[in-house]
Amino acid sequence: MADHYEVLGVARDATPDEIKKAYRRLARELHPDVNPGAEASERFKSVTHAYDVLSDPKQRQQYDLGDQGGFGGGQNFGGFGDIFETFFGAGQQTRGPRSRRERGQDALIRVEVGLDEVVFGTHREIEVDTAVLCQTCQGSCCQPGTSPVTCDICHGTGSIQRAVRSLLGNVMTSSPCGTCRGYGTVIATPCVTCQGQGRVRARRTVPVDIPAGVDTGVRLQMPGSGEAGPAGGPNGDLYLEIKVKNHDVFSRNGDDLLATLEVSMTDAILGTTAKIEALDGDVDVEIRAGLQSGEILTVKERGVTKLRGNGRGDLKVGVQVVTPTKLSSKERDLMQQFAASKKAPAPALSHFQQGLFARLRDRFLG
Ligand SMILES: [Zn+2]
Ligand SMILES: [Zn+2]
Repeated sequence: MADHYEVLGVARDATPDEIKKAYRRLARELHPDVNPGAEASERFKSVTHAYDVLSDPKQRQQYDLGDQGGFGGGQNFGGFGDIFETFFGAGQQTRGPRSRRERGQDALIRVEVGLDEVVFGTHREIEVDTAVLCQTCQGSCCQPGTSPVTCDICHGTGSIQRAVRSLLGNVMTSSPCGTCRGYGTVIATPCVTCQGQGRVRARRTVPVDIPAGVDTGVRLQMPGSGEAGPAGGPNGDLYLEIKVKNHDVFSRNGDDLLATLEVSMTDAILGTTAKIEALDGDVDVEIRAGLQSGEILTVKERGVTKLRGNGRGDLKVGVQVVTPTKLSSKERDLMQQFAASKKAPAPALSHFQQGLFARLRDRFLG
């Protein structure tokens, strides 16, 4: 019986790393896939067994002490496939036939909602066109009563082995079987409903709760509501991409709603209570006497419900005082009396401002 150290070609005091490297080199040379000969196969078994023993600190210690621990019993041989896969990775594992079953793709649907729907959230029944499981074959791809048959070209392995001459001698390579496309089986009698795909396209209605506070560009994920996979594979996810429609009156800044309130000159001078229509009902807004154009009135908690966290944003109303353009002669008289009673300051210059709207925006957003 050859010495394990000699089999691997390493010194008795070799480090675990040296042992691993030696095994890796020999396994590449001797593995039955690369080197099909009987002699190589025997050497491969010895090399693998030697590595099995020497790579395990406990077994190596026993071996060094002279106890050959079960060598020849063969019970350790079963492990060499695992070791080989650890070294050479999943690439070697593609030798098995591949599965027809795959996960379906994700689907994306765009959904338009009104700003009023966003304030509290809304419910929708959304129509989606996706692949769904074929009800005739339940994803088996075969006509009911039939089943896939083993491919007689690759005998169910899904791949074809070929010997290729190279500088290193004959090397076995494998490629997917062209007859069964690597599945290892052939569907002799495809389901007529789905043409052997296991899925069909269908329109269905998906109920969706759109949460309050969503904004344009937000994507809602609905796991498992996307395309059905081929051959009964699991569904992908459905994504809803939200677009919030523009509103005639209100615009949005984060969770706040913005609007402009036109106030008559006399209301601005004398003060009043204005009833305004928010997106969720009327609100009384106090117009204090002496209100100026460009001031912002904030109505707390009457904006959009926050998507994350609690509470709502605010409703912010920018004031625009409207100067009357047509006066009756009586009104004109009254205004002249007013002007005479109160010495108004002369018009005064200050820094140029890009109109009221721009000023409001700056204050809203600043
Ligand atoms: Zn079918
Ligand atoms: Zn085949």
